[in-house]
Amino acid sequence: MKDRYQVVVIGGGIVGCSVLYHLTLRGIRDVVLIERDELPAGSTWHAAGGFHAINADTRIAALQKYTIGLYTQVEQESGQSIGLHMSGGMELAGTPERWQWLKSELAWHRTQDTDAYLLTPEEAARMVPIIDPTGLLGALFDPHEGNLDPNGATHAYAEAARRRRAEVVQHNRVLSLDQLPSGEWRLETERGPITAEHVVNAAGLWARKIGRMVGVDHPLVPMVHHYLVTADIPEVAAIEGDMPAVTDLEGFTYLQREGNGVLLGVYEQNPRHWKVQGADWDFGRQLFPEEIDRIKSELTIGFRRFPVLQDIGIKRWVNGAFTFTPDGNPLVGPVAGLPNYWAACGCMAGFSQGAGIGLALANWIADGDPGYDVFGMDVARFGSYASNDRYLRDTTAQFYARRFVMAYPNEELPAGRPLKTTPCYNEFVAAGARFTVNWGLEVPMYFAPSLDFEESSTLGRSNAEPIVAEEVEAVRTAAGAYEIAQYARYEVTGRVAEAWLDHLLSSRIPEVGRIRLAPMLSPAGRLMGDLSVTRLDEDRFWLTGSYYLQDWHTRWFRRTLPADGVELRNITEDRMGFSVSGPASREILERLVHDDVSNEAFPFLSVHEMDVGTAQAVVGRISLTGELGYEIVVPANLHRTLLHELLEAGTASRLRQVGDRAVDGLRLEKGYGIWSAEFRQDSTPGMSGLDRFVAFEKGDFIGREAALREREEGASRMLVLLEVDAADADAAQDDGIWIEGRRVGFVTSGAYGHHVGKSLALAYLDRGVVGSAPELMVFVIGEPRTARILPEPPYDPKGTRLREFA
Ligand SMILES: Cc1cc2nc3c(=O)[nH]c(=O)nc-3n(C[C@H](O)[C@H](O)[C@H](O)COP(=O)(O)OP(=O)(O)OC[C@H]3O[C@@H](n4cnc5c(N)ncnc54)[C@H](O)[C@@H]3O)c2cc1C
Repeated sequence: MKDRYQVVVIGGGIVGCSVLYHLTLRGIRDVVLIERDELPAGSTWHAAGGFHAINADTRIAALQKYTIGLYTQVEQESGQSIGLHMSGGMELAGTPERWQWLKSELAWHRTQDTDAYLLTPEEAARMVPIIDPTGLLGALFDPHEGNLDPNGATHAYAEAARRRRAEVVQHNRVLSLDQLPSGEWRLETERGPITAEHVVNAAGLWARKIGRMVGVDHPLVPMVHHYLVTADIPEVAAIEGDMPAVTDLEGFTYLQREGNGVLLGVYEQNPRHWKVQGADWDFGRQLFPEEIDRIKSELTIGFRRFPVLQDIGIKRWVNGAFTFTPDGNPLVGPVAGLPNYWAACGCMAGFSQGAGIGLALANWIADGDPGYDVFGMDVARFGSYASNDRYLRDTTAQFYARRFVMAYPNEELPAGRPLKTTPCYNEFVAAGARFTVNWGLEVPMYFAPSLDFEESSTLGRSNAEPIVAEEVEAVRTAAGAYEIAQYARYEVTGRVAEAWLDHLLSSRIPEVGRIRLAPMLSPAGRLMGDLSVTRLDEDRFWLTGSYYLQDWHTRWFRRTLPADGVELRNITEDRMGFSVSGPASREILERLVHDDVSNEAFPFLSVHEMDVGTAQAVVGRISLTGELGYEIVVPANLHRTLLHELLEAGTASRLRQVGDRAVDGLRLEKGYGIWSAEFRQDSTPGMSGLDRFVAFEKGDFIGREAALREREEGASRMLVLLEVDAADADAAQDDGIWIEGRRVGFVTSGAYGHHVGKSLALAYLDRGVVGSAPELMVFVIGEPRTARILPEPPYDPKGTRLREFA
């Protein structure tokens, strides 16, 4: 072991070894992996070693596919056998809803170019003869599933990295981590100190403790998990070659071949946390005694589905621990304010995700960019609220218990809620609001007319749609008020504030009193934000962005923030308010202000500071609904007062409170994109249409060269608005779009346009297809529907209601 390396990876589980290997692939060879025990300790050594490509987040699914595809390369490079069985795997459906869900999952697989297919119950039972097909409706078979030897795979990564000159040091615990004034890290280890430019926390069950050494509390907790391995089963022994893995989605169990017997794992409904603050330092390669009583009811279902298990002996129980985050995806990437510290932890599916994590992290260290849209596993996707022990326990238990439970797209899950509420929360509840959650904040989805209204969980349109329709109509014909507390706001002040923003944002910086939409780009020309910038004074600006991107954006801002001359302050919790939009919104505002808010005095995209009722407010003429509208922002302690005054002033004009769902439908009627759907880290200005806000001719800004290149070459895809022939359900993100069996795009968001009476979807289509505008096919909840490109938005295509409403 040397006393200085470019990168130190802490932890020799599957994730740390994959990171090590990927660093060497990127040419970073002055690297060492430090392992407390022997490779692999922690969760990896006793895992079942199963893997699959499916993930609710398609970007993570692509990285899972990459992980699976890499195993043979690592095996060959290292000469270390990994016991790979590409057995394929099936998910069973025993209810009509689950069967429909599997059909939509099949469509999703096709979008991901995976050759999955459906099986009848009999076909499923022929492939895995120990299945009792009674009550089954069918199964979905995915050939990209299988299992491997966890120890072999870990050693293979480590050996392949060693052959590329990386070092692995075992039996050497990292004792402390300190950042030096140079920005380098000093690690005290049992075998002496090391100085390193970068340090990677891949410490698995101990990762929370390593994080705390540097003042970070990562939102992850260990939980215990069981599987059993049976004695030989004649029906399994009789199968030549591999037997597909089985996930019983109503039974909470998974099963795979293990020798001539099987391994049956359980995701029980009553899960148990273990060592919430991190495992003890002296925790060795240990297992816990089995807790059969706790998993009895799930096992009983499993034994019914695989009846042979009732009579066969159990050879071995494994009850071990692994880590969970609130959404089940890992924590990867840099942490704001801690340069050169990298997270690679919280991974609960190391054999599906290990290589994807390694690839993204190695790119990030080498290039300052993960190279992919990895927001779904970015450590910055959670705020500090998520590290609260109670929140973590509640949300991780919910995730664990629902791992195999079908999620409906309109379902709201209860764990950790309500957490953050705005001062108007009680008013919203009294008005019948039903809430969704955004980064821990309760956000009204719609306002139900009666307190006992219950929305049914469904894959199609729900019984809440008539309520949403009324809210949409209120905005189109009178006025609607929706809370804009779920926008993040940053105040930027100082002598060089304008110069910094001019470099950070690709748009022009507005004049005082004006608002501008401002795409923010990475050096590679991909989107980092769809912000708006408001100039309140020569040297005072507000940046407005997505609420849940606060840590992500702050990390980005800080990369280029000068040491002095600019002050950046997150004022999201201090300033909130309402957007009032609709043809009557001006007359409502007029009742509350002394200022002239006519079209001439207060045109579109202007901003004024003025008294609104009893509050001093910042009022911007801007709206996401396509109607005349104002965003009224006040100090948080006047937010509730503002609501009361608005509702009072609005009574005569039929003002109605509206929620997120109505706004979503309204913006689709106008073809407006939003972050996380149309605008993402893997979109570009040219694709998304945001290039119309890019000031190519202004001086240098981040991403200019790449954006110019794209302008010359043309974007490969284009954002279009579709009308879909669907009467009972609407398209959803990532639904594939096809022409005669060829995939030509995917949906970014879909909703019913209640005012225009159309099922609408925004989608990315291959550029070549757009001009020819043939009939397209979209799979909506697994069923093919025809769709066509709308040449212009179906509502107010010229934008006169928004801009010129007099
Ligand atoms: C029963 C069970 C079955 C499972 N089955 C599967 C499965 O089928 N498929 C799947 O994908 N996943 C499965 N998992 C989950 C899987 O085990 C984990 O996702 C994976 O092992 C996580 O790997 P890791 O490298 O992040 O962490 P770990 O394996 O915990 O590795 C962390 C390493 O860091 C070392 N370390 C910690 N602190 C220090 C320090 N201070 N100094 C030096 N070294 C340190 C530890 O000794 C350890 O070796 C299963 C888990 C369990 C419990």
